[in-house]
Amino acid sequence: MNAPFPVTPAASIVNGLSVDVEDWFQVGAFENVIARGEWDSIRTRVEDNVYRVIDLFAEADVRATFFTLGWVARRHPNMIRRIVDAGHEIASHGYDHARVFTFTRREFAADIRKARDILEDAAGVAVTGYRAPSFSIDQRTPWAFAELAEQGYAYSSSVAPVVHDHYGWPEAPRFAFRPLPWSALVEIPVTTAILGGRRVAAGGGGFFRVLPYGFSRWAIRQVNRRDQRPAVFYFHPWEVDPQQPRVGHAPLRSRFRHYTGLERMAGKLRELVHEFRWGRMDMLAHREAARAVDLDLLPPVLELGLDAQVEAAE
Ligand SMILES: [Zn+2]
Repeated sequence: MNAPFPVTPAASIVNGLSVDVEDWFQVGAFENVIARGEWDSIRTRVEDNVYRVIDLFAEADVRATFFTLGWVARRHPNMIRRIVDAGHEIASHGYDHARVFTFTRREFAADIRKARDILEDAAGVAVTGYRAPSFSIDQRTPWAFAELAEQGYAYSSSVAPVVHDHYGWPEAPRFAFRPLPWSALVEIPVTTAILGGRRVAAGGGGFFRVLPYGFSRWAIRQVNRRDQRPAVFYFHPWEVDPQQPRVGHAPLRSRFRHYTGLERMAGKLRELVHEFRWGRMDMLAHREAARAVDLDLLPPVLELGLDAQVEAAE
């Protein structure tokens, strides 16, 4: 019987594992009900939750990247050192989770500089990676990559190449690309799979919690076997914390997204980290750089609609 996929075993591909380090009250779902000005008065839970995550990774002997808010690092510098001491990468998630498309370029420059200064002070190592809050680099922010490159970042993992109600740049490539002709900066988009001819989000977040684990297994296998590429997966420390305070006055939809599946999350993560191979995003970016496409050479890709591009990928 002929194999339906090229024969590199999926198990040989090292996928990218990432944690977006923010507390339960700093998420997009609650931004209209908990103001930034209130953050200082809320008891944080992020440190204990990060230690749970570190223990879970240690059980499976995997290393990951912790994209951390500057706001969090300023209050929990010991946690940053614990992350680094455990062999994980510290990277930037911006200062206080403001989305990139809400900034001017000058404001963005100040935000990522401030966050990195705090992270590097706490970590004692260089920060070379960045993930935009809520995957908020898209066609509205063509200057964001230029700013990251000018500030010396090696990679970004800030694009969700999919249609989604809160974020997404559906025309972007699904895998590593170099957005600038003059820089080696590489973008590693979060994982999508192809289902029924459409791109679907498959890199973690709420989908991982809400859907059965089998969906993620199927998606990561598809990416590893058919596309022969590493998957990029992310989750948040508050997702392993079923005891977190409940925000009763948030919209029902936001509450559903935030609270569904919290009890099952740690078990699913355990399954995930044991079933596939995982590593840090800086290592993955380094390997993927050799296969990255140059976006400036591919303007037609950005002009194609999603369907045309999916057809091309099929
Ligand atoms: Zn985030």
